[in-house]
Amino acid sequence: MRLPAPETFLAELGTRQSLLLVDDDAASVQVLARMLNGLGELRFALSGEDALRLARESPPDLILIDAEMPGLSGFEVCAALHADPLLTDVPVIIVTGHTEAAVEVAGFAAGASDFIRKPPVAEVVAARVRTQLRLKALGDALRASALTDGLTGLANRRRFDQDLRVECERARRSHESLALLMVDVDHFKRYNDRYGHVSGDACLRQVGAAIRSAIRRPADLAARYGGEEFGVLLPQTDADGARAMAQRIVDAVAALALPHAGAGAGDRGIVSVSAGWAAARPDQDAAVVASRGEALVEAADRLLYAAKAAGRGRVGAPAPAAAPHQP
Ligand code: GH3
Ligand code: MG
Ligand code: MG
Ligand code: MG
Repeated sequence: MRLPAPETFLAELGTRQSLLLVDDDAASVQVLARMLNGLGELRFALSGEDALRLARESPPDLILIDAEMPGLSGFEVCAALHADPLLTDVPVIIVTGHTEAAVEVAGFAAGASDFIRKPPVAEVVAARVRTQLRLKALGDALRASALTDGLTGLANRRRFDQDLRVECERARRSHESLALLMVDVDHFKRYNDRYGHVSGDACLRQVGAAIRSAIRRPADLAARYGGEEFGVLLPQTDADGARAMAQRIVDAVAALALPHAGAGAGDRGIVSVSAGWAAARPDQDAAVVASRGEALVEAADRLLYAAKAAGRGRVGAPAPAAAPHQP
């Protein structure tokens, strides 16, 4: 797995990292804000409750929080963040006048990353904050890279599987339709045989880029499912939308007009893909929920094979006796 050099992505991220400063005493927040000027985008909260609300609205890259506040204490906020799957990676520095080891032990137990003594010293605050921001940026890059396909830059299979489960549950709760496409490059073994694997890889990159540009909504997810096969997740999309998107992708790849002389008699001499689709209302479909969305992959696969059997370079059509997940 290749990661960018820390300085490269820190330079990119640096200005965009965001900090949340929390203290029930507004003057203390101002003091810290002056010390942190230039280290990131600053937001403020005057209570633990507000801090949690702001963090959930938009997760910061680092939280500096007063240990002692009326209502939720810094320790309690820290524990709540740690227990929240979406915020568990946000580092927390606890700011406290206490110097006893027991306080630090309790803070680390609650998930704190570090401590800053009150009254704060500018150089110490800046150094500790820089360290946490750097670690956060490294962690973010590592997490992103673990979910990205190295060849195409699309989401990888792990991300696709994760998102499928999440979107299936989201669609069930919000009573919406969820659709999914499976897309497979036609006669790709012959492409490799004829042009070599290096050209094969370049071809997959271009097909991936065509799929990415064919999808429309920010919530849509294009992934490399494996080998020369791609998966596309389409939240809030019904059967008609799924079929249309599948056709858009087939057309987008054909429009690349990448020569494929090895495709065989009857083919157009260009790289093509076949596609299958599936759509369901998880709130009305126990099989989809029980399989955590996998039933949609199976249904889309059936249409993908129908497309192959019907001559490739097209979207598969449901058999007259329709499968349960294709109307
Ligand atoms: P079909 O039209 O039926 O899908 O035929 P196909 O040749 O595309 O299908 P098959 O499953 O027989 O072959 C898939 C080929 O894709 C074989 C494999 O070498 C190639 N392939 C899979 N992953 C990669 C990759 O990362 N790079 C390259 N260059 N080739 C790959
Ligand atoms: Mg206080
Ligand atoms: Mg293939
Ligand atoms: Mg295949």
